[in-house]
Amino acid sequence: MLLATLLSLSATLPIDFDDHFTGKTLRFDYHHSGNATEEHIALDRYRLEGPWAGSRIRPVDDTNLGKYLFTVIDPSTNRTLYSRGFASIYGEWETTGEAREVWRTFHESQRFPEPRHPVQLTLRKRGHDGLFHEIYATRLDPTSRFVDRSQVRSPGELHTVLESGDPALKVDLLVVGEGYTRDQRSKFQADVARLTGVLFQTEPFARRKDDFNVRGLHLPSEQAGISNPRQGTWRASPLGLSFNAFDSDRYVLTYANQDLREACAQAPYDALILLFNDRKYGGGGIFNLWSTCAADSEPAPYLFVHEFGHSFAGLADEYYTSQVSYDDFNPDGVEPWEPNVTALLDPAHLKWAQDLDAETPLPTPWNQAAYDEASYEYQERRAEYRARGASEEAMEELFREVKETTQPMLEAEPYFGRVGAFEGAGYRAKGLFRPEVDCIMFTRNPTSFCRVCSRGIERVIDRYTR
Ligand SMILES: [Zn+2]
Repeated sequence: MLLATLLSLSATLPIDFDDHFTGKTLRFDYHHSGNATEEHIALDRYRLEGPWAGSRIRPVDDTNLGKYLFTVIDPSTNRTLYSRGFASIYGEWETTGEAREVWRTFHESQRFPEPRHPVQLTLRKRGHDGLFHEIYATRLDPTSRFVDRSQVRSPGELHTVLESGDPALKVDLLVVGEGYTRDQRSKFQADVARLTGVLFQTEPFARRKDDFNVRGLHLPSEQAGISNPRQGTWRASPLGLSFNAFDSDRYVLTYANQDLREACAQAPYDALILLFNDRKYGGGGIFNLWSTCAADSEPAPYLFVHEFGHSFAGLADEYYTSQVSYDDFNPDGVEPWEPNVTALLDPAHLKWAQDLDAETPLPTPWNQAAYDEASYEYQERRAEYRARGASEEAMEELFREVKETTQPMLEAEPYFGRVGAFEGAGYRAKGLFRPEVDCIMFTRNPTSFCRVCSRGIERVIDRYTR
């Protein structure tokens, strides 16, 4: 009894960072393979990087975000020394139609403070019950000759955008340039300054600016721009970023994870944004992986902030009228893990109850029929523009028109600016609900996040700084 009490007490005590970790960063590289019904993890290698930039006070992730959870366990005490929730390209891909037909593999990395002693590494996946279930475990001796300790190469040039203090106590944001030639270094620096400037004018990032360090990494490309397979454009850019991920025209990802990790290993970082030098609108964002954003399209400021909402804070898309490649992203009757979308299975215990305005009915009424009519009509026109290869200017004109139509419509809603549960979110018109009628995660209209998204972002900032 006494022993059990002591053990449970020790499990709640904070971990003394220096007892367990050297202060450097270790990277676990692996292949994540499978299809719609099975998945496998295979070790690639262990790699030593530079100083650990993450928290030394809160190495264990208590946010319960992510489709997956990575943990580092001390086998002698069974205590979790480090953990981090995340989402992945694999986790999205397995919900697409392609996963029912073929197997694929994706390279992934987990970065964690280098342990002093042997540890157990585990990967867990969230089930439909909302709980994490182990899919992989391995033992690592960090002092073994299987850890690559060779010097990290520096293929690019780093510059400081914002310096607020010790990386261990700040969010270290690294913006990596893709598709910028050697001569375009100053353009890259100007793009980073312009877009991070927008980020720090947007709440809640504006009031938390002092919690961030921002650096830029210029990786020179032979040619400007990135690959665009639908137009037959191919670029041998350093990170292999490309339009048309999952055959979705404006979804931009890279599968060259190891090249990316090696290039970034020279800088301390907690969060990555891959900013690419292209006129065409497009991007993407995956929680605790990275976000991507086209630098030169008219809505780039919106996109930079929206995609960072995904990758930094695990926010879900609140929209549902756009075409996406996922068949089964949010299955029926399953509560999404993202903080800003709910299936409203238990209205009495709504996950954003603390932000709920009193006397706001649940679900909260709004004129969804009128919004949908306008929005679906616009989606049809957008598909038509895409089919005939319309110019970016024409597309941006269409975006402006949508804003002029939908912004007054949403602002006229009786519950505009109030927190409730509005039906239509997470790629589903029915059965999923968002916290406010409008938000940066819903449309391109607002210049701030809804109250629930803001809280979600601040909670993640705290994880790195408190
Ligand atoms: Zn929101």
